[in-house]
Amino acid sequence: MPEIFANYIAGDWVNGAPVFEDRNPANGEVVGCFVKGTARDVEAAADAAARALPAWSAMSAPARGNILYKAAGILDGNFARVSADMTREEGKTLPEAKGEVRRTINILRYFAGEGSRLPGMLAPSERDRVHMFALRKPVGVVGLITPWNFPSAIPAWKLAPALICGNTVVLKPASAAPLSAWRIVEALHEAGVPKGVVNFVAGPGGELGHALVNAGPLRAVSFTGSCQVGNALHAEASQRRLRIQLEMGGKNPTIVLADADFPTAVENVVNAAFFSTGQKCTATSRAIVEDAVYDRFVAAVVERTKRLKVGDGMDPGIDIGPCVDQAQMETVLRYIEIGRQESGEPRCGGRRLAEGALAKGYFVEPTVFADVAEEHTIAREEIFGPVLAILRARDFEDALRMANNTPFGLSSSIQTSNLSRVFEYVYRAEAGLLTVNLPSAGVEYQLPFGGSKESSFGPKEQGQAALEFYSDYKTVYLKY
Ligand code: NAP
Repeated sequence: MPEIFANYIAGDWVNGAPVFEDRNPANGEVVGCFVKGTARDVEAAADAAARALPAWSAMSAPARGNILYKAAGILDGNFARVSADMTREEGKTLPEAKGEVRRTINILRYFAGEGSRLPGMLAPSERDRVHMFALRKPVGVVGLITPWNFPSAIPAWKLAPALICGNTVVLKPASAAPLSAWRIVEALHEAGVPKGVVNFVAGPGGELGHALVNAGPLRAVSFTGSCQVGNALHAEASQRRLRIQLEMGGKNPTIVLADADFPTAVENVVNAAFFSTGQKCTATSRAIVEDAVYDRFVAAVVERTKRLKVGDGMDPGIDIGPCVDQAQMETVLRYIEIGRQESGEPRCGGRRLAEGALAKGYFVEPTVFADVAEEHTIAREEIFGPVLAILRARDFEDALRMANNTPFGLSSSIQTSNLSRVFEYVYRAEAGLLTVNLPSAGVEYQLPFGGSKESSFGPKEQGQAALEFYSDYKTVYLKY
């Protein structure tokens, strides 16, 4: 019998029926069953969060921080199990899952430390004997809606700043991978977070999302996921003037110039395109390569890609796991077909892998298309899978123009040894996250995270910037 994971409302684990299955995309095994939350559960969770708000926001921020420190320690103690859970429910390789759980722990500790700072503002007054300053105060009850691709880090980078600022929360995790988020909530519970401060309701996004943005006590919502859902959520939330933060899709480019360190550039593009099965929001899906090295680069990327080992992420030596579920795999295979029609046969990959041990999983070969034109569908739309489109650019200016020629603006990367080009790129690339001589994916938690253009809306996440979304200022003028 698979374990049943309850929702967490008002400090209680709330069981019930029906449940839905959290399945391993590598082999179809049931990792666990989750109680399928309803709109009424969301309303109860939001009410509980509202009741918990006065005491939690009145608690000193360092004391709130101590609870986050404790939760981080609990996750650290369960590190092996929590990492394995993630590989089993999401499909990424075990080393990648370990990296993500380590990041979650670091995020909790980083924001725990923020409890001892929570910077306000102090400015000299123009008036005599007036002391003026601004304090941070929480926003109130915040809804958090998260995707499956970073099922632990993204809930953590929303939960931790929300809690340290004194907000109370309702978390709705992705149905494809809810266990990793559940483990964080379990750790917070064991760490002694007061009843109602953190609430967790799993279940169908449409019903629960609608209930969440319409829950009376809600003051803000932070969403990460697709543009389609994010934009609809924004339309609904703005009717109530909820504070909202959206982090959504991308079509991230990596520019490769002729003067780049060639082996590093190849490795960075392959890493960013295919690791985590291309299911990182910051993954490279377009490599834009200068004409002078184009043919050599295509050949080297194809050769390197063919050496990637695809399989169950729990097995040692595997580079690429499965797509997260059947629907995602079918989306990827559909885009590969469109790529075949518009851009020609892929240079490698292009098939589902279903032989032997892979038969029950959602595995797709890492796929490289070359000579892709800017107007081709696979150069324009987010695929969110192991598919790389390589485009030819005349020179740096042409490459930069192509890189920016997208409605998205999440991450962007350049591979070059020319410092002037680096600075040209840094000032002119249209994305919220830039990397130079690194993969386009792979961010840390200490600095702002988020995109521009249609990829994002609202204040940035992570680092000090996260505090801006989860807190408000109260400005005080005091005559002494
Ligand atoms: P998604 O389908 O938009 O789902 C995201 C979350 O929204 C899930 O919890 C989902 O619940 C919920 N949801 C679904 N329909 C909803 C509705 N009508 N109202 C409110 N919530 C709803 O995205 P995904 O497939 O999980 O994630 C992949 C996408 O996320 C990609 O586009 C990727 O680029 C983006 N992403 C962006 C970033 C970033 O930082 N910019 C980071 C990671 C991922 P269910 O799971 O129950 O459907």
